[in-house]
Amino acid sequence: MPQENLGPQHVDYLMSVVGKEHVSVTAADREQHARDQSFHEAHLPTAVVWPASASEISAILKYANQHHIPVTPWGAGSSLEGNPIPVHGGIILDLLRLDRILAIRPDDFQVDVQAGVRYKDMNAQLARDGLFFAPDPGANASIGGMIANNAAGTRTPRYGATKDNVLRLELVTPTGDIIHTGSLAHKSSSAYDLTHLFIGSEGTLGVVTTATLRLAPLPEQFSAAVASFETVTAATRAVSGVMGSGIVPAALEFLNTAVVRELNGVEEFSLPERPTLLMEFHSATAAALQEELGLVRAICQGENCAAFEAGLGRDERDRLWRVRHQTYEILVRANPGVAFLIVDLAVPVSRFPDLVAACQGAMVRENMKTYLVGHAGDGNLHPLVPYQPGNEASFGLATAIHAEMVQAALALGGTVTAEHGVGIGKRKYMGQEHGRSLAVMQTIKQALDPNGILNPGKIFAETTFGNG
Ligand SMILES: Cc1cc2nc3c(=O)[nH]c(=O)nc-3n(C[C@H](O)[C@H](O)[C@H](O)COP(=O)(O)OP(=O)(O)OC[C@H]3O[C@@H](n4cnc5c(N)ncnc54)[C@H](O)[C@@H]3O)c2cc1C
Repeated sequence: MPQENLGPQHVDYLMSVVGKEHVSVTAADREQHARDQSFHEAHLPTAVVWPASASEISAILKYANQHHIPVTPWGAGSSLEGNPIPVHGGIILDLLRLDRILAIRPDDFQVDVQAGVRYKDMNAQLARDGLFFAPDPGANASIGGMIANNAAGTRTPRYGATKDNVLRLELVTPTGDIIHTGSLAHKSSSAYDLTHLFIGSEGTLGVVTTATLRLAPLPEQFSAAVASFETVTAATRAVSGVMGSGIVPAALEFLNTAVVRELNGVEEFSLPERPTLLMEFHSATAAALQEELGLVRAICQGENCAAFEAGLGRDERDRLWRVRHQTYEILVRANPGVAFLIVDLAVPVSRFPDLVAACQGAMVRENMKTYLVGHAGDGNLHPLVPYQPGNEASFGLATAIHAEMVQAALALGGTVTAEHGVGIGKRKYMGQEHGRSLAVMQTIKQALDPNGILNPGKIFAETTFGNG
């Protein structure tokens, strides 16, 4: 492991690079960067640094590499697997000051943006040109954090995950080289695809400073649709039906009855308390949209849906998604004194009903409140497993149920993390999911980061990179 205590001489050097006011060793700043939004144990960094350019980051990484000091990039700290927790202390590199949109090219559907920009702020600006960046994790994440975690969200069925919407990156490698990957072309078969090597690498291979993102036009015609079903099986089977119909929904979310009931506790929300699919469809013309909605209605009716409502306008649609995006906070408020493990799994869409059944079965068996919600169009389920904070037995049970769900996803040909990344929480499953590929990944890490300084302790089980 990299290790040299970060002493006053190192802090002086950091201040000489970014300016005194952009380095902090105060308890408040260190504590603010000690944990993300997960349950994982907090670890204090020794110093927090706010650089403003790739060249400053390059100088910091060269120095840290020379002195074997751990460096962990930090975007908005909204991760759910401990991804930005500085488990080995050292420096937190907070990208907040890289906050500029550099260029918008509406004709090419592209934006050049610095890594610290928050995606919601960027989308507010892009809307003036009738454009948006589609991946939408619930939290107001930074572009760098979304790239590092390969974030996704409700709109992935139609528009893809972050990886599908990044064309070009400027990065600083752990040894301090500033490199550029990709091009402005929407396709390329030019040598190794380094852009996609860095996407999803959780800040372990390089620090993203600037990205060129692919944008989508704001849809001319859209409609939300809500379908309620008699059973979970019918609702989840309808997911396969819609996805297999040739229609590409802009969003296709599954909520079980318990989740719908809690959301109905929110003032402006009122849905039948049944297993539900929340959907959205985008189209170029009103006629095409109506045709799609008719087909989806027929598919849902084929599964004996109890209610189907479509043609919801902008206000209604915005209200639905606002509440959907607040699901986690609403469930937490509805259950005082209870915390949740937010599980993140994905399987092929045809196996989604099996995944839901397995997760539901495990929670019902243990008499747990069973909250299931997911980006069903991608086969992505988020069971929320409850436990009582501070109660070891309760946490142990939640962890065991989580492990059982992970095994179910793997047995169905899926993945142990669809969009939250590996961080600390999913490291133990990497060997099982990737087999010998994991050794190839370690070779890549070793080649780019021989001293193991960049976000050590993530993705791989604790290892001894380099000679530190
Ligand atoms: C309520 C809630 C709902 C959520 N819903 C979703 C969801 O639907 N879909 C989803 O995908 N995620 C979701 N998330 C998780 C989280 O918002 C995403 O993973 C997000 O992409 C993290 O971005 P961030 O800016 O907060 O990054 P951080 O948490 O700060 O960092 C994430 C990782 O990226 C690294 N990193 C940060 N910036 C850089 C950079 N510039 N260069 C290199 N590495 C960097 C960090 O070291 C860390 O490993 C949710 C989180 C919450 C709290």
